[in-house]
Amino acid sequence: MPLSDLERSELSAALGDLIQDLEASLAETAAAARPVELDQPAMGRVSRIDAIQQQKMLEANRVAQQTQLQLARSARHRFGEDEYGDCMACGEEIGVARLRARPESLYCIECQTARERS
Ligand SMILES: [Zn+2]
Repeated sequence: MPLSDLERSELSAALGDLIQDLEASLAETAAAARPVELDQPAMGRVSRIDAIQQQKMLEANRVAQQTQLQLARSARHRFGEDEYGDCMACGEEIGVARLRARPESLYCIECQTARERS
């Protein structure tokens, strides 16, 4: 079933919120993601290791958020092209349940799974 107007406006709003949240979060963590100053004399060995681990986690998280943001922007662009909700690989409808959970989805679940496997 194609998306109804109500579903489209709901998903468009969700996508907008998602993009805003990701942009805000990435802006917030941008400063903290800079390399740790390792030669601070006041910093003990353990806290140095802690700082490096925290930074790695933060960086991994930022990479994931940047990827999601790119998807979300592509999805928003597809709204403008009136192609939102159609799988970019097979052209089938992605389905409203999946779009509600992941409004940035560009692929249906079958194609997404196939892409992750390859
Ligand atoms: Zn597909």
